[in-house]
Amino acid sequence: MITRRPQLRILRTLLIWIASGAAVFLVGSFAPSLSNASINVLFRLRGELPPPNDILIVAIDDPSLQVIGRYPWDRSVIAEALDKISSGRPKAVGIDIIFAEEADRGEDDRLAAAIRQNGRVVLPTLLFERADEAGQSRVDWLTPIGVLDEAVASKGHVHAAPGVDGTLRSIQLSKADDEGHRIWAFGLETVRVAQDITGDPIESSGLLKFGPHNIRVLPEGSDQSLVEGVSITRSNEMLINYIGGTNSIPYLSFADVFTGKVPADTFTDKIVLVGATSPTLGDIQVTPFMQYVGADGRQGGQAMPGVEVHANVINTIRNGLSLQPLAEGWSYALVLLIILVITLAVKWLEGAGQVVALASILAVIAWGCLIAFDQYFLILPVPELLTAFFFAAPLLLLDRSLSASRDLDLKLSVLSAAQKGFLQDEDGSELPRFVPHNLEWKLRAVDSITTRLLSRMSFINRVLIGMSEGVMVADLSGRIVFVNPPLEAIFGQDLRSRDLIEILMSWGMLSPAETETIGSQVKAFEIVQKEVVINSPEHRNLLLQFSAVTPGTEIPLATDIGSGYSPVMGILILVFDVTKQRELDRLRAETLQFVSHELRSPLTSIQGLSDVLQKFDVSASESREMLETIHSEAIRLNKIITRFLDTKRLESGVQELHIAALDINKLLSGAIGSVAPLAAEKGIHLKHVVNDGLPILTGDDQLLTQAVENLLSNAVKYSDPGTEVKVYAVSDTQELKIVVSDAGFGIPPDKQERIFEKFYRLPRDESSNVTGSGLGLSFVKDTVEKHGGYISVNSAVGDGTMFTLSFPYDAKLSHSPGFGNSNMSK
Ligand code: ADP
Repeated sequence: MITRRPQLRILRTLLIWIASGAAVFLVGSFAPSLSNASINVLFRLRGELPPPNDILIVAIDDPSLQVIGRYPWDRSVIAEALDKISSGRPKAVGIDIIFAEEADRGEDDRLAAAIRQNGRVVLPTLLFERADEAGQSRVDWLTPIGVLDEAVASKGHVHAAPGVDGTLRSIQLSKADDEGHRIWAFGLETVRVAQDITGDPIESSGLLKFGPHNIRVLPEGSDQSLVEGVSITRSNEMLINYIGGTNSIPYLSFADVFTGKVPADTFTDKIVLVGATSPTLGDIQVTPFMQYVGADGRQGGQAMPGVEVHANVINTIRNGLSLQPLAEGWSYALVLLIILVITLAVKWLEGAGQVVALASILAVIAWGCLIAFDQYFLILPVPELLTAFFFAAPLLLLDRSLSASRDLDLKLSVLSAAQKGFLQDEDGSELPRFVPHNLEWKLRAVDSITTRLLSRMSFINRVLIGMSEGVMVADLSGRIVFVNPPLEAIFGQDLRSRDLIEILMSWGMLSPAETETIGSQVKAFEIVQKEVVINSPEHRNLLLQFSAVTPGTEIPLATDIGSGYSPVMGILILVFDVTKQRELDRLRAETLQFVSHELRSPLTSIQGLSDVLQKFDVSASESREMLETIHSEAIRLNKIITRFLDTKRLESGVQELHIAALDINKLLSGAIGSVAPLAAEKGIHLKHVVNDGLPILTGDDQLLTQAVENLLSNAVKYSDPGTEVKVYAVSDTQELKIVVSDAGFGIPPDKQERIFEKFYRLPRDESSNVTGSGLGLSFVKDTVEKHGGYISVNSAVGDGTMFTLSFPYDAKLSHSPGFGNSNMSK
């Protein structure tokens, strides 16, 4: 038997899981660029979002530089443009230009006036490093010059912190200098002014509540400081949900605004951002949409100007688009789930199903990541999930094919070992055990073993079919799974797939209690024999031998028996037809009885009388009487022996039937003729009622005459003198009947069955001097049955007896009805 070790299998699977988990961890920890790249891919796969209709960029672009002149411009130019914008009453104006140095006093005042006039202007600040009085390096806020600072509605920082790959994915919504003086981001401040939000945003780990906006930020530690008196300074880093590549936010050229080409109402209720977009002015950022080709064929290949980044920040905040990576715990749970699903797909599915399942898992990963990103602004750990997939799936597949190959090796060696002991292995080839073989070699080996096994199977099959004994196998549920042809011939029906117990019980072979005890004995590995008699389709004595079928040559251990574990696979039933043996046994017993009882008594009287005659002087008359008795006993002996031999011959089939067409009336008169002297002696009247138009009976004339003679002589023997014995034949549409009736002693009802047994005589006759052997009726019955007929008796004690021999027309020996009338009467 092949032993598999499931523990090893589980251990290997666990190792693969651990290895995949480690790979995922390594990728997650040491290859952040993969994660960055995957976010870029997600952005590009998702595509562009519709541009906001309330944000407008006034771009200091190349045409503006051409129209207005080299940068930096006079502050009055900015003021002039700002006035034009202000006349349209925008919600807020963010001017992304640093005014950290004083310029011409008039110019500064001019701009301050325009800013004050507008009232909703936000200006940028920057952190910068300088040396203090003590020569220490310090980081301070670089704010707009005094007049402007006083005029602005708000200030926001414009720092950007690109990732390791140089791509700007997030913005810190708050930044602080050395003294903890915090300034919020330029975009956020612009939103504050546009929506008149008062008060500071409420911070918590992962979320920033700002007026009506819930901004998702990257989680940073707990909400409570661990050290008393020290508050947490968060950077509130927000992932920017860019709507597209560079130039995806609507913009106007500064020159057009400055020269008054743009109508004032263009700015009504808009958030206007003024900033440099000309690449010559620097301030550009790489975004995830770089290299992206939009639906309109526009390339996002250029870097994004800072002012457009701010526009995207504002859009992200105002429309609640801030992105968030899936929490670490959930990420690992997801990875684990994927590995688990892959494991199930590899273990449970085969071939095409497996390929489809794995492809579907991959598709679900890709689709799920995209949906999470697009619909729920969740960034799933794409590299980790893909690593899990591309690590676990091949390893599990490899493990499976390796273990299948190992199993095949094992099976091959077991098979080759198993067939060695069976009959003679022609070529005696054995599979080398420790040499690795490729799949083709193994398939060839399987092929050769299969061929050999098949030829052996057909050999066994021939043996089973050729056996004269019946063989039947039932499985543990009692269903018959194998029957050899000889057994089917015995039962004359198809036994396969039928229920063994039901069959044994329906034929009355076994009682429910017997089947139960046999069942438990077989399960305890006992061999049980049971002899049964069936009468359908014909009389047979069968010896059934029940034994257990165990797998292979395994011998049950003593501990297996009664331990609940049963290596029994089924029940084997051998069926021996012992009808002939039993018949011989019976013949032997009958012969023995015949010799010991029937022959003994006449012989004893012959021996006794002849002894007396020999030894003593007896008178002439006495000696004559004795000799007469000796003579009559000898005749009786002769008769008994003849009759016994007749019945035996008939039974054993040695006596052949001489079939011929018979005239029944003639047959009956013949029989009457031979019984007549006996009847006359006893003074009994024999009457033959002749019927015309009887059909012809085909049969053995001598045997049938003898049978009728027997019935007639019985009728005479067992009747009082002066009575009448009647014999006649009648026919109806189905049968021809011969009837012998008397008005004699009759037969008690309880003995009417037994009188047909061999050597049976009524107790009444045993004590009377009516001679007989008890063989007559048995002979009559056999004769009639040999002719396809049957005998019946109708009798009442004191009234007489009627024997009827019936011959159905459709019996084996057909008798053509119709003609052969005879006219005999007595
Ligand atoms: P036997 O040689 O004793 O007559 P049979 O086999 O012919 O043996 O008959 C068996 C027994 O049946 C007889 O011993 C007898 O008692 C009973 N028997 C047979 N025929 C008749 C009959 N016509 N009337 C009464 N009894 C009968």
